[in-house]
Amino acid sequence: MDYEQYTLDDAETGPRVVIRDTNRTTINFVLSNTSLALANSIRRIMLAEVPTIAIDLVEIESNTSVLADEFLAHRLGLIPLSARDIESLLYSRDCDCDQFCDNCSVVLRLNAVNRNSDQIMKVYAKDLYIESGGYNRNGYNGGRNGGLDSLEHGFERGEPVILDPAGNGPLICKLRRGQELKVKCIAKKGIAKEHAKWAPTAAIGFEYDPWNKLRHTDLWYELDKVEEWPESKNASWEEPPRDGEEFDYDAEPNQFYMNLESTGVLPPDQILHSGIRVLQQKLATVIQELQHSGTGTNLNDASGANGYAGPRSPDLMDAAGSGTAYGAGTSYGDNGYTTPGYNAGAGSAWGGGGGAAGQGGQTPYGATPYGRSGNW
Ligand SMILES: [Zn+2]
Repeated sequence: MDYEQYTLDDAETGPRVVIRDTNRTTINFVLSNTSLALANSIRRIMLAEVPTIAIDLVEIESNTSVLADEFLAHRLGLIPLSARDIESLLYSRDCDCDQFCDNCSVVLRLNAVNRNSDQIMKVYAKDLYIESGGYNRNGYNGGRNGGLDSLEHGFERGEPVILDPAGNGPLICKLRRGQELKVKCIAKKGIAKEHAKWAPTAAIGFEYDPWNKLRHTDLWYELDKVEEWPESKNASWEEPPRDGEEFDYDAEPNQFYMNLESTGVLPPDQILHSGIRVLQQKLATVIQELQHSGTGTNLNDASGANGYAGPRSPDLMDAAGSGTAYGAGTSYGDNGYTTPGYNAGAGSAWGGGGGAAGQGGQTPYGATPYGRSGNW
């Protein structure tokens, strides 16, 4: 089979992605040429930190159903809503408004009443309609037809995602004769780390080293290991172990098999993109913290004279900045251990030429290729 290869980096050595299969809700790909740490970061970010939208506030005007108000509010929160164009929606906490407005929320209404039928009336997610905050495209009737095909033209932002062939969506409540529901729902932007209702993924499969050559997994078995642990379908992507092969103590995992299953609120490729973007932002924050917004704060400065007096890690230098392993004139400074990129002057990579703390050479963070005035 032919697979298209995507390189995420200019260099030949950068991470590589091979997409094995994709459809409207899932994407199956192989990530290679990278570390377990990076692959796992991407997995965890996609599970918990990709922003989506979900009902967060519920104003109950009337509820004579058998469900308690809070029970109903919880059920409403779990209804998947389309996160289309979520970037243009503000987090409510970042918005100027008092509680909610069109810039930070989508308001949905649910008005259902069983006036005089002896039949039990079922209230579904399709009965929620957008009052404000969605974008009203002319003549657009949303994905109301239901089924997987409705993902093709997409749902409006904040609109319930309905994937069942009948086009109903999740069942919210049942009403007997004379019972009614009148509810105003305010959907807000959020992430699954705060509440699972914001999760964009139903599941993410993650596997590496299908032959268990690295022995990261201890396979328990009763009689026969091979019989009781059938081979993964990813096993064909890697060399099987040879008979009598010696254990490689230096081997590290570098190929990861991922299968991302979306709930339908975002297309799977967008979840991946959004996840990578969030990871980049997190790393950028770390760099910014290290640089202290470009004011040149020296993390090795013990005096706090540069304005930073908050919590901090212990110093790497002693008070004089010399004579220690990290100061000038030590084995680190003189024996070729300094990396050119980090060396900000004479002396060691860490300390200056024996200056007092705070006046020593630049720290590696001040001299990084990211630049001090980098606008992150
Ligand atoms: Zn607002």
